[in-house]
Amino acid sequence: MMFASIGGRMLLLVGLVILLNMVGMVAFYASSQERSILAHNEASMGDMAEAVSRGLQAVMMGGYADIAQAYAGGLKKVQAMEDFRIVRVDGTEAFQDNKTIQAVNNRLGEETFPPRGEEQEIAVLARDDPNLVSAVREKKKMLFRQGEGKSETLTFLLPILAEKPCYRCHGQKDPVRGVLKLTTSLASVQAAIQASRSRALLILGGSILGSLLLIGLLFRFSLVRPIKRVTEAMVDAARGNFTQQVPVVGLRELAEMAESFNSMSQKVVKSHSYLTEEQNKLATIILSAQEAIVVTNAAGEVVMVNPSAERILDKSEEELVQGGFLSVVDDPDYVRSFIEHGGVEMPDTLVYRNRVLNFYAATIRNKQGEPIGSAALIRDVTEEKRLEEELRIMSYTDKLTGLYNRRRMEELLEKEYGRAQRYGLPLSVLFFDVDHFKKFNDTYGHDLGDKVLEMIGRVAKGHFRNLDYCCRYGGEEFCIVLPSTKEEDAFMAADRFRQRLSETDIQGLRVTCSIGVVTLPGAVCESWEEFLKLADNALYEAKRQGRNRVLSWQPGMVAKKV
Ligand code: GH3
Ligand code: MG
Ligand code: MG
Repeated sequence: MMFASIGGRMLLLVGLVILLNMVGMVAFYASSQERSILAHNEASMGDMAEAVSRGLQAVMMGGYADIAQAYAGGLKKVQAMEDFRIVRVDGTEAFQDNKTIQAVNNRLGEETFPPRGEEQEIAVLARDDPNLVSAVREKKKMLFRQGEGKSETLTFLLPILAEKPCYRCHGQKDPVRGVLKLTTSLASVQAAIQASRSRALLILGGSILGSLLLIGLLFRFSLVRPIKRVTEAMVDAARGNFTQQVPVVGLRELAEMAESFNSMSQKVVKSHSYLTEEQNKLATIILSAQEAIVVTNAAGEVVMVNPSAERILDKSEEELVQGGFLSVVDDPDYVRSFIEHGGVEMPDTLVYRNRVLNFYAATIRNKQGEPIGSAALIRDVTEEKRLEEELRIMSYTDKLTGLYNRRRMEELLEKEYGRAQRYGLPLSVLFFDVDHFKKFNDTYGHDLGDKVLEMIGRVAKGHFRNLDYCCRYGGEEFCIVLPSTKEEDAFMAADRFRQRLSETDIQGLRVTCSIGVVTLPGAVCESWEEFLKLADNALYEAKRQGRNRVLSWQPGMVAKKV
C-alpha cells in the first residue's frame, strides 16, 4: 500500500512526470544519434567506394583486366565488405564469361585476350533495376539499403565511365562501361546504434532512479516525516493519550499544524485534568453523601447508585438497577408524576417501609435542553421528623407535669375563645391554685412539692376529657380549658376534681386547691385575656372565702390585689 500514503502518491506522480520527460529526451537524443551514425557510415562508405572505383578504373585503363578482376576478388574478402562486383550495364557480372573478351577480340581482329576456360553468366541485378538504370543513365553514384536489423546492408552502385583509352577495345558506343556494385554490412552500425540505445536506457533508468531517490528523501524529510509525527500523535491521542507533543519543524504549514496540535493537546490535557478533578470531587460527594442518589441514562436505565441509596432504600445496587428508576420507592406512579410535573421545585415527603423520606426527582438535560437522564435525591428524614415532633411537643409541654405550658394554653384559649364567639358555642375555663403551697414547700421540702405538682398533672389528665386542655399556668397555678362546656358542667367537673385531689395521697400527705370557673356565654369580657382574668377573679374569691372550694365567676367579683 505504498501509494496510499502521501509520500508514495507524490513520488508516483513526480516519478511519472520525470519518466515522461526523460523518455522524450532520450528518444530525441537516440534518434538523432542514430541518424548521425548512419550518415557518418554512409559518407565513409561512399568515400571508400569512390576510392575503390577510381583505383579499379585506373587499373582497367591500363589494360589490365585480369588485375582488375583479381583486385575485385580480393576486395570481396575484406571483412566489412559483403559483396563486391563489377557489373555490366545489363546487370550481369563482368569477368565471369567470354562475352566481353570475344567482343574485344572481334573489334581488335586478333586473339588479344585468351578466352577463359570456365565461363558462367551471373545476373547480379535485373536489367531494369531502377538503381542500375539511374546510375547508368545519370552517370552518378546510387546507394540503397536492403534487409533489416543485423542483416541490413548498404549498397553503392558507381558508374564506370568510358574514357578515351577504353575506346580502342570497347568502342565509343556506350558512355558507361558498367557499374561497380559494392555492398557493405550495416551490422556494426546497427550494433553501435544498439549500444547507444542501451547506454541511453541505462542513463535514463539511472537518472530516474536517482531523481526519485532524491525527491523521495526530500519528501520524506520535509513533508512525510513531520506529517507522520503529527498523525502518529493524533492516533495516540485518539487512544486517549494527550500528553505527547510533536516537534515544530518542517515547512511553514506543517510547523503550524504541529504547533496547533501541541496547543490543542495541551488544552485537552488541561481541561481533561480539570474535568477529572471535578469528576473526582463529584464522585466523592456522591459516594459519601448521606442522601440516596440514583441516576439514569437517556434510556432510563439506572447507571449510578450510591451507598446511601442502598442503605436508605434497603435494596442492593443490583435490585435497584433491575427494578428500574420508577420503582426506587416501590411506587412507579408517584415517581412518574413527580418527574412529569417538572415544575415541582420542592422535595416531597413520603412514607416508605416505616421510614419518612424526602423525595426529589428531576430530568437531567444537556445545554440544548435534550433529556440525558434522570436523577433522584432521597433523604431519610425519619429521625429528623421524630426530633421535630419531640421538639414541638417539648415546646408546648410543661416538663414537670407533662401538661401544656402557659404559652400553649394561651394559644389554645385564644383559638377556642374565637371559635366560641364565632359559633355561639359554650366555653369554660377553670383556673386553680394549690392552697398554702408555700407552707407545704417550707415544711416538706421543694422536692416533695414538685412531686405534688406532678401528681396534680396526673390527676388532671385522668380526670378531664380528652378534648379538654390541661395546662400549667405557672408555679402551682393551673388552667383547664373546656370547649363546648356549659357553666354547670364545668362547675361539676371542677368540684369533682377538687374533691379527687383532696383525697389523693402523696407520701401520706394531702393538698387542696381553690378553683375559679368562668363560662361563655355569661362572662363579661372583650377578649380571651379578660376572660381568663375573670377566672382568676373567681379563684381569688374562692381563696378569700376559705379555700378548698370552687366558685363560678359572678359579676361584681373583685380582682385579686396585686
Ligand atoms: P395560697 O393558699 O394563698 O395560695 O397560699 P400559697 O402559699 O399557696 O401562696 P403563694 O402564691 O404565696 O405561694 C406559692 C408557692 O408555691 C411559692 C412557691 O414556694 C411554691 N411554688 C411555686 N412553683 C413551685 C414549683 O415549681 N415547685 C415547688 N415545689 N413549689 C413551687
Ligand atoms: Mg399561687
Ligand atoms: Mg397557692
